[in-house]
Amino acid sequence: MSFAIAIDGPAAAGKGTISKAVAAHFGFAHLDTGLLYRAVGAKVLAGVDPLEAAETLTAEDLEEPGLRTADVAQAASRVAVIGEVRAALVDFQRAFARRAGGAVLDGRDIGTVICPDAEAKLFVTASAEVRAQRRFAELEARGDDTSFETVLADVKERDARDAGRAEAPMVAAEDAVRIDTSELSIEAAVAAAIAAVEEARA
Ligand code: C5P
Repeated sequence: MSFAIAIDGPAAAGKGTISKAVAAHFGFAHLDTGLLYRAVGAKVLAGVDPLEAAETLTAEDLEEPGLRTADVAQAASRVAVIGEVRAALVDFQRAFARRAGGAVLDGRDIGTVICPDAEAKLFVTASAEVRAQRRFAELEARGDDTSFETVLADVKERDARDAGRAEAPMVAAEDAVRIDTSELSIEAAVAAAIAAVEEARA
């Protein structure tokens, strides 16, 4: 049995936390597709050609330390506008979505391009200010020397690039359930997501 759950939305809206919790709740496998683009972005920062990086990506590349930095996030969103890079990553994501036992994929284009036939689709959002505040707190806790204003500008720049690109832009699928986490606790956001998936399963 396969059952695909697509969770899309902008950076730091809570997709990652929600996806992990939803996958754990249903006993499904989870793929953070942003990591694929981050791993390609990191290779490009190291001097590798973007398409070559995407075509030769390995599981180990996804475990590289440093994929969570702001520089790699920006590099990821720059390589993510390249159609050939996206195409090179499609088959892996589609196979993951249809693995036996169920799968949760989170990203920007899962419900629209990678898995338009997903059994459940969520679009998780929050205001840019709230998302920047969360990301800022994360970076500060990690000891990164940055300011809220820098993080907010970064979030807005990445949103604009992700939503404005020609190829697989970040947009909610028409049949996605929208969850705005701006004023929700983690527990409430996770509960809303699980309820939406339960409804799709029924
Ligand atoms: O989700 P995360 O912030 O790790 O994603 C990093 C970047 O990768 C995004 O800003 C976006 O440009 C790109 N991405 C994408 N499609 C996905 C997942 C991520 O274009 N499915």
